[in-house]
Amino acid sequence: MSGLRKFYRKTVQERWSTLYEKEILTEKQVEYLKDKTYAPEFGDSMIENYITDYTVPEGLSFHYLIDGREYLVPMVTEEPSVIAASSHGAGLVKKAGGFKTRIEQRLMIGQILLENCENYAEVCQRIEEKKAAILEVANKAHYSLVKRGGGARWLRCRQLADDLMSIDMAVDVQEAMGANMLNTMLEAAADYIHTKLDQNVLLSILSNYATECLAVAECSLPLSLLGKNGLTGEEIGRKIAQASRVAQLDPYRAATHNKGIMNGIDAVVMATGNDWRAIESGAHAFAARSGQYRGLSKWKVSADQLKGRIELPLPVGTVGGSIGILPLVKINQKILGIRNATELERVIACVGLSQNLAALYALISEGIQRGHMRLQAKSLAIAAGAKPDELFQVLNVMRKNEKNDLATAKAVVARIRRNR
Ligand code: NDP
Repeated sequence: MSGLRKFYRKTVQERWSTLYEKEILTEKQVEYLKDKTYAPEFGDSMIENYITDYTVPEGLSFHYLIDGREYLVPMVTEEPSVIAASSHGAGLVKKAGGFKTRIEQRLMIGQILLENCENYAEVCQRIEEKKAAILEVANKAHYSLVKRGGGARWLRCRQLADDLMSIDMAVDVQEAMGANMLNTMLEAAADYIHTKLDQNVLLSILSNYATECLAVAECSLPLSLLGKNGLTGEEIGRKIAQASRVAQLDPYRAATHNKGIMNGIDAVVMATGNDWRAIESGAHAFAARSGQYRGLSKWKVSADQLKGRIELPLPVGTVGGSIGILPLVKINQKILGIRNATELERVIACVGLSQNLAALYALISEGIQRGHMRLQAKSLAIAAGAKPDELFQVLNVMRKNEKNDLATAKAVVARIRRNR
């Protein structure tokens, strides 16, 4: 855009002035940006062309009992109902004894992609012969990780096409998510493979399809706990299992089923300073691992129990990236009371399953709109201009309406002001 050249070289103050001078924003809008800029010292060092801090609400979700331990879970989300649903699902599971989790390993996968490698078998054999040397080169490139007990663990070759192959490297990244560390190690190994083994490297980077960093969460609820709105526990359990079956069969339903799961997962991933795009891409790749996109969780009725299970890649960290930079992340780690990244994975997997249980429970009984619209009314009232001291009165009126939208919310706000 003209007039904004070298924006990246400007200070935050200069960027605000430019936005005003170029008539992109009014003085009042620039004042708003300034007012919402809480931590320019962090923001300007974290991203490019920084102009302000975009805040998203954070709340706490309750009732999580996981492997015998209770957790208070901070969640960052802009969507109404997510935290309420998370607490509701966790509360049901807590009454049934809580969640059980399983994590077998925590390795990140990186790829060194080779091109023009028509003789796959021969290249594979050479890689196998030089495996120890390649892993050593990778480890030397980030030796502090090795000193912490981590490092490159294994290599494998996969043929992708007649002329393309992937050398996958698995790395124990300890407490970090590991993207940057792994990329450093991969580039060093790729250089060795190019110079010493004379192979054509196309590119090297970690894979977000973190199949060696899977978390499993399970729960089992007596059907007698589930009865509601005239439906028996048996009927509710059966319908939840049927809904879960549909998510295995139909990608249209699976996408929404998984969106509900990610409502909870992303909210904790964000609260803990982790990269939610990485978690999202890995989760969806995993959901499509059979060749068809399917639900990440499954529910079934067995004897007098409703049993739920979720499994997905959760390569999250407790250090590295923005985690050490943002003070709120440290506070959230304290609220959670997690001791390491594996424990964080366990909690996040349970939040996904709990969110899913609450959504299915609502969908097959009263539908999600009733609860959703209650919270949605608040957002509408705020969007309609209701001030904090007017909200209670506005919501009281809106609650009695059959249907609410922005126009009705605006009418209610106007009426209340007229009658003051
Ligand atoms: P960092 O680059 O910050 O590396 C981790 C840091 O944590 C290192 O400096 C390491 O110290 C330090 N550390 C301290 N204690 C430990 C410990 N116990 N275990 C491990 N490390 C420790 O972050 P990551 O490598 O984790 O990369 C994550 C970032 O990469 C995220 O911001 C992500 O968004 C981004 N990213 C993601 C990509 C993707 O997902 N495709 C691609 C590229 C980047 P030391 O240096 O001493 O070892």
